[in-house]
Amino acid sequence: MPGINSSLLRHLKQPERFAALDRVARQGDRWDGRVFRVSNPSTGELLAELPDMGVEQTRIAIDRAHVAQAEWAARTARDRSDTLWRWHQLILDHTDDLAAILTAEMGKPLPEAVSEVSHAAAYLQWYAEEANRIYGETISAPSTDRRMLVIKQPIGVVGTITPWNFPASMVARKISPALAAGCAIVLKPAEQTPLVAGAMFALAAEAGFPDGVVNLIYASDGAAVGRELCSNRKVRKISFTGSTEVGRLLMRQCSDQVKKVSLELGGNAPFIVFDDADVDAAVDGAIQAKFRNAGQTCVSANRLYVQSGVHDEFAAKFTARVRSLSVGDGFEPGIAIGPLIDTQALVKIEAHIADAIQKGGAICCGGRQAGHGGTFFEPTVLTDITSEMLLAQEETFGPLAPIIRFEDPDQVVREANDTIYGLAAYFYASNLKRVWHVAEKLEYGMIGINTGRMSSEAAPFGGMKQSGIGREGSRHGLEEYLEMKYLCMGGL
Ligand code: NAP
Repeated sequence: MPGINSSLLRHLKQPERFAALDRVARQGDRWDGRVFRVSNPSTGELLAELPDMGVEQTRIAIDRAHVAQAEWAARTARDRSDTLWRWHQLILDHTDDLAAILTAEMGKPLPEAVSEVSHAAAYLQWYAEEANRIYGETISAPSTDRRMLVIKQPIGVVGTITPWNFPASMVARKISPALAAGCAIVLKPAEQTPLVAGAMFALAAEAGFPDGVVNLIYASDGAAVGRELCSNRKVRKISFTGSTEVGRLLMRQCSDQVKKVSLELGGNAPFIVFDDADVDAAVDGAIQAKFRNAGQTCVSANRLYVQSGVHDEFAAKFTARVRSLSVGDGFEPGIAIGPLIDTQALVKIEAHIADAIQKGGAICCGGRQAGHGGTFFEPTVLTDITSEMLLAQEETFGPLAPIIRFEDPDQVVREANDTIYGLAAYFYASNLKRVWHVAEKLEYGMIGINTGRMSSEAAPFGGMKQSGIGREGSRHGLEEYLEMKYLCMGGL
């Protein structure tokens, strides 16, 4: 039988509140008895067995969302805003337990999990406020007997799919603007990290969302659920965060119905340090941009380009800092680097290092799996890296920092742009003219200038090229869930 295991409940302050997470997605629907397991990547402990929902349950959830949609859209903006505010407060009130669930199923250090839960709450706050700020427009008509105006309406039922690396904030970032706009949603979280989504949905029910407005699908077969969401005509939009490969597939599946998509996909972020940079600040920024979440973030610095004049100083200071990062179970105090999500992630990082060494790269620190069992990997710095190596072309998604020396500032921008991705880029420089020119030339949706961290609910998050379509966060994130309707009144 499904259920939550004591190895998870012992981490919680209010275990009784979250002990029934196996039932959150079931909601009385037909379920054929199949289950899937969720384990702690640090220890391998079984955390839960969840009911495995398939195509039929997805269809039921979509039907329910379709019915609830009309009533939710007809409410006042203030009413929707108030419900989002209540959910925001409940998330804040349960930060410790949500963070513990997140660390248990995903592995990130507990302080990072606490910070992710506050980031998730910040999206709910932002869109509780934005719900009241949906505006239309009036247009000067070309003749006196007409009036022309534009209204904005919710797009309808939204199918959302989220990844394992930020299992709380991705849920909030996607569904809070949809709910603020008046949409009902069906969410499928990643198979490896469904529990924090379940806990957030349990709190959403307490916040008072009407039946059917928020629907959760626990599933081990993401492809089957994805096909149903894309092909079901009652779903009017797909919002996906994950790999570029799956994003392309979903876009193809949505093309038959010309269904709208928002896609937040992979990256290959350059991090450039120019000769005129503050080197100590650049080292701080690189540590944040590279090693947060053990390098498993879509905006992770994947390639560190450092200009010759400061290369050796940067490499020495950066390597010293990386050596001091401790690896281990995210529940232990002082841990900076948790486990990788699974053994496939270990295989990828090892392949990237082997390829680099074979082509002339040198290891400054790390380079091996860290003991502890599980899927831990030592934070690693490589130098003598060239653009031909695999690690400069593919997203590593792990604690591996390759340093590439460069001479020519124009050439480095060309190299930084020479990728199919365009999500995030970072650079450190002090010359104002250079700052403007480089910021304008980099082909990325988000640029951190003299900072290694830029994600905020107030800013538009998203990428260019094959890193995605659309933006999340900020006022732009709300527009993604609204249809524009032009009204032309004649005979006046
Ligand atoms: P993924 O393999 O694409 O999985 C993401 C989600 O898609 C999971 O819920 C997964 O379900 C589901 N999925 C997998 N195959 C599917 C299919 N055929 N049809 C429908 N859904 C499917 O990505 P990931 O490895 O979890 O996440 C890492 C990637 O996400 C990285 O590339 C990272 O850069 C990107 N990412 C981007 C952003 C951004 O904002 N741009 C943010 C975070 C992460 P299962 O778990 O059941 O397989």
